[in-house]
Amino acid sequence: MEKKKIVVVGSSNMDMVVKTNHIPVPGETVLSGSFFMNPGGKGANQAVAIARLGGEVSFISKMGNDVFGKQFIQLFSDEGIDTRYILSDEELPSGVALITVDDAGENSIVVASGANSNLLVKDLDGARDAISKAAILLVQLEIPMDTVTAAVQFAHQNGVKVILNPAPANVLSQELLEAVYILTPNKTEASMISGITVTDLASAEEAAKRICSKGAKNVVVTMGALGAVICENGACSLVPTRKVETIDTTAAGDVFNGALAVAVSENKSLKEAVDFACGGAAISVTRMGAQASIPYRTELIAQEL
Ligand code: ATP
Repeated sequence: MEKKKIVVVGSSNMDMVVKTNHIPVPGETVLSGSFFMNPGGKGANQAVAIARLGGEVSFISKMGNDVFGKQFIQLFSDEGIDTRYILSDEELPSGVALITVDDAGENSIVVASGANSNLLVKDLDGARDAISKAAILLVQLEIPMDTVTAAVQFAHQNGVKVILNPAPANVLSQELLEAVYILTPNKTEASMISGITVTDLASAEEAAKRICSKGAKNVVVTMGALGAVICENGACSLVPTRKVETIDTTAAGDVFNGALAVAVSENKSLKEAVDFACGGAAISVTRMGAQASIPYRTELIAQEL
């Protein structure tokens, strides 16, 4: 039987957003703000994107034994995500992001990682069978680096293709890069990993080549409204995205990564997979929110994106 399963190891957060006319300075209290909550976290967003785009996905994550943790598990099962490997932390609460947005669209954000920071290497033990039988492992950097490294190396040793979305930006060891099948940095992350400041297509190609020379098999640098620069076997090219009316780019990168994993699991070529990922991400930027903006496969087909 062909292996098609995708395993995501990563974070879940509850984004708690307050809108107010100005962001309070220390000691100040501001009244008249509106409030809403959005489930987020890169791991969770990418798992939801995979499920909505037709992939078969198991999510390995850790959340608090609290109301948000229970809500997340319900939401994920409703999306069709396999939640068997989600762990509950008895001490730390679920991750939250406290976000204040003012009338000018400026924001201030405090993230309390909570249980995400306690997803440890030993927590992978119960899921090693699932990882070794998967076609693809998709990981980001919102959980401890030791856990990322252990998951990536275990998958690689078992012939599972690893897609690593190195976000938020961090330095990566050669050992980690050598186990990666596709690395998907944005411009900032590509700059940090390569040491080359990425500002345009030429510098993105240069950075992608440098990252390949450090061990990653394929590199895809996401370039916002331009699309993505791909580099495989030393050859680089631009895969353009769609021209759309941009409303909110939150989670564009997460939709891109989830869609990429789905397309690679369907044995599409790197170019075709990146084109599919651009189609999914382009729909997401036309809508507000993180998980709320993630499209379904039927929408991509309907819009021929
Ligand atoms: P974010 O942090 O906003 O989630 P990111 O910085 O991780 O995004 P980007 O390079 O900005 O990543 O975007 C990821 C992908 O989303 C791009 O490669 C592109 O395919 C798509 N995308 C982003 N912005 C736009 C846009 N304005 N129009 C069309 N597609 C876009």
